[in-house]
Amino acid sequence: MMNLINCKKCGKVFASSGSKVCPACSEEEEKKFQLVKQFLWDNPNSTIDEVVEGTAVDRETIIKFMKEDRLASHGLTIDFKLHCRRCGKEIDSGEYCASCRNKVISDLNAEEEEEDVEKDYESGKMFLKDRIERRKK
Ligand SMILES: [Zn+2]
Ligand SMILES: [Zn+2]
Repeated sequence: MMNLINCKKCGKVFASSGSKVCPACSEEEEKKFQLVKQFLWDNPNSTIDEVVEGTAVDRETIIKFMKEDRLASHGLTIDFKLHCRRCGKEIDSGEYCASCRNKVISDLNAEEEEEDVEKDYESGKMFLKDRIERRKK
């Protein structure tokens, strides 16, 4: 199904079939990914600063590639540690450490968007507040 949404990067409205960035921005990102990939082929296990310097790709985008496991899936590593979203443990790629990933996969919310997770958290907080308030009465 096609939805009209705003591109997460440039804010332009486009017809999306699931992606959050418009075709122009995703093409731009793909170009950056190729740059990073090629740089790491020539300079394996560089530090993130070396990659930024060597490719002119911004740090956030490189970290995003790491979180999306895109570099790891090509067998490429950067000498930079990410932190598990759940327990904060140092990891090489992805968003969770191995043990948290197992737990998250069994959780139905694993595939939810970040915003939805935040919303869930908010409603969880409301729920708790509700209970505390009810207890006071
Ligand atoms: Zn865009
Ligand atoms: Zn963890």
